[in-house]
Amino acid sequence: MQILTMYPEATLLAGGHALLPAMKSREIRPERLVDLAAIPELRGIRRGSDAIQIGAMVTTAEVEHSSLLKEALPLLPDAAKVISDPLIRNRATIGGSLAQAEPSGDWPAIALAVGAIIHLTGVNGERAVPIDDFFQIETTPAGNGLAVGRRTVVARSEVITHVSIPLVQGEVRRSYLKRMHPASGFALIGVAVALRLDQDRRCDWCRIAITGAASAAFRALKAERCLVGTAISGEIIREASMLAGEENVEFIGDPFGSSAYRRQMLPVYLRRALSTAIESALV
Ligand SMILES: Cc1cc2nc3c(=O)[nH]c(=O)nc-3n(C[C@H](O)[C@H](O)[C@H](O)COP(=O)(O)OP(=O)(O)OC[C@H]3O[C@@H](n4cnc5c(N)ncnc54)[C@H](O)[C@@H]3O)c2cc1C
Repeated sequence: MQILTMYPEATLLAGGHALLPAMKSREIRPERLVDLAAIPELRGIRRGSDAIQIGAMVTTAEVEHSSLLKEALPLLPDAAKVISDPLIRNRATIGGSLAQAEPSGDWPAIALAVGAIIHLTGVNGERAVPIDDFFQIETTPAGNGLAVGRRTVVARSEVITHVSIPLVQGEVRRSYLKRMHPASGFALIGVAVALRLDQDRRCDWCRIAITGAASAAFRALKAERCLVGTAISGEIIREASMLAGEENVEFIGDPFGSSAYRRQMLPVYLRRALSTAIESALV
């Protein structure tokens, strides 16, 4: 990315659906824009022997319609379908959505649930950041309940090049469920679940991620710990779901849903998402 060496202060433009509204409202006034659409290396979805690679400039619509993903990781196309509307999906990119890390964005939770690795390049070279280390939960919310400051570890002069998603062996089941804002489609609460069952229906691996509830997406670690090592039953699902509401995060509130509402809805949505994943055909 020679251009970043020449203009390290430049602002990157992907789908523009977060950046351009912010520029229009004068929230930000970049001096220089670099349009990532001109870089073909940031496009494409590929399958390797043990991981899937998704270019940063792949749009949500491309994920939705990808036959490779429908076969290898159907959670992604299924989740893409419930992101906003076709106009947004045709422009919004995976890289832009992860870099933007909206507190109610869908991709952050989905990326956490599938254990994505975010590949970055910049003036100081390349690095790969596990998704667990990618988001930053801010502890100083602004007046509207949303976070202030940086939401990810992406540095000023860095670009997300692609995302790789490890293919987990065995009987992995996944689901994504959200309470959708009726106008924008953003998640008031979104729950992404991936878990593996052994032949005795015992869960031996699990990742659960939540969006819409806090200033950044987060993993429901208490619920995960409750499920791993146990034979799955209705009772265990209920217990794990209740534990998610007890995660040590500051729940956000806005005119569409108070923090108490979000805390109460989280166990309900997690219970439904877990039940859907477990009852689903193997994916
Ligand atoms: C009306 C509306 C409804 C929406 N509904 C939803 C919804 O339901 N769910 C949801 O999840 N999202 C929703 N979104 C947001 C949308 O899906 C994307 O998250 C958003 O558009 C950002 O992606 P983008 O490609 O447009 O990025 P841009 O707007 O171009 O960029 C966003 C930020 O990321 C940076 N950036 C972009 N690409 C990279 C990169 N490769 N490396 C490093 N930094 C980068 C930019 O510099 C900028 O700071 C909605 C947006 C709108 C306008």
